[in-house]
Amino acid sequence: MTPREASQAPLEFGGPLGVTAMLLLLPATMFHLLLAARSGPARLLGPPAYLPGLEELWSPRVLLLLFIWLGLQVALYLLPARKVAEGLELKDKSRLRYPINGFQALVLTALLVGLGVSAGLPLGALPGMLLPLAFATTLTSFIFSLLLYVKALAAPVSALAPGGNSGNHIYDFFLGRELNPRLGSFDFKYFCELRPGLIGWVVINLALLMQEAELLGSPSLAMCLVNGFQLLYVGDALWYEESVLTTMDIIHDGFGFMLAFGDLAWVPFTYSLQAQFLLYHPQPLGLPMALFICFIKAIGYYIFRGANSQKNTFRKNPSDPSVAGLETIPTATGRQLLVSGWWGMVRHPNYLGDLIMALAWSLPCGVSHLLPYFYLLYFTALLVHREARDEQQCLRKYGRAWQEYCKRVPYRILPYVY
Ligand code: NDP
Repeated sequence: MTPREASQAPLEFGGPLGVTAMLLLLPATMFHLLLAARSGPARLLGPPAYLPGLEELWSPRVLLLLFIWLGLQVALYLLPARKVAEGLELKDKSRLRYPINGFQALVLTALLVGLGVSAGLPLGALPGMLLPLAFATTLTSFIFSLLLYVKALAAPVSALAPGGNSGNHIYDFFLGRELNPRLGSFDFKYFCELRPGLIGWVVINLALLMQEAELLGSPSLAMCLVNGFQLLYVGDALWYEESVLTTMDIIHDGFGFMLAFGDLAWVPFTYSLQAQFLLYHPQPLGLPMALFICFIKAIGYYIFRGANSQKNTFRKNPSDPSVAGLETIPTATGRQLLVSGWWGMVRHPNYLGDLIMALAWSLPCGVSHLLPYFYLLYFTALLVHREARDEQQCLRKYGRAWQEYCKRVPYRILPYVY
């Protein structure tokens, strides 16, 4: 059996042409956002205020800083874990083991950053380095994805991802050929999913807050809300780290440029856009409005956490008392689909909660600019596309049972609308 025969998946993202466009557009968009956030007009649409020269983008010192950061996160990953979890069964019937110590890595990073700052580490200088740091990270992601591609050439067919093995080099480089590339027990995809980029994102946010405090005397309420909300999101992802083992990224997608660039560069540099915008464009925010935004965030988090936990508990142990009473649809695979509770409201309640939270992250930036709403717009497009991909996979997996579920729960993300 050839890798192409092993891969049953139809081409995604518009095939080779679509992914070639994304290979160029994703980094270009990221740099556009970084430049727009610091420019006076802060325009989301339209050309950037200026184009930086190579001397502004390339810095060996910043590259070294990036490697120190990645090295620190690798070291924290290798520390003893409170738990070692097993992933889902693979094609060859084996299961991989994963350390559950992401939250510990976040806490230890916070301690180290705290110690560093009290010893004089100039964290407030980080915002000034974002451009070369994003450039170094993009370059590193490209080279890393190339190495992953080459490594996958020697991988057995059973280790290949369902997509990413079309035979077209660019398409496969983008999607990723190997499902779980590892060096010994070190899992590259699992490491990148929740650590350097996600923890890096909140460190960048903190640096922006510190620089704002230096400039204004104290951080603004808007900046505090954005920092708090996004720290909660990252802390939650790491606290419930084990649930990443059942996500599409881990069980379906190969590890190629899409995830490597997404995890390492896109997340920290574009998800911190609201805090970047606020540093250069301070926004007044009164207490009543701040409380209202906190309320929106709380609703989003309640739905997001409730839906994700309900499904994870159900998948781990359907007789758990918290889910045993829920109505289900049996499927030919032996697994069941929830058809009441959160998963009876819409077919992706967790996406709904996530989108409500995304709105709460943008609102502290006011309504005078579109730029801070980029995340909400991009994330809506991402989740609508992701939902369609997941539906296709579930239809293939569950057939008539999935059709029955769609009939019982007709809306995908937003009740009565979509
Ligand atoms: P989900 O957690 O939504 O998982 C989808 C899977 O859940 C399906 O493939 C199916 O798998 C199972 N499932 C679907 N319907 C049911 C049902 N009724 N009953 C039981 N199981 C069901 O997938 P994602 O990986 O897309 O999302 C995970 C979280 O990550 C979400 O909260 C999402 O918002 C968030 N996310 C955030 C991103 C960001 O950049 N901030 C990016 C992407 C996701 P099976 O049956 O095989 O278990």
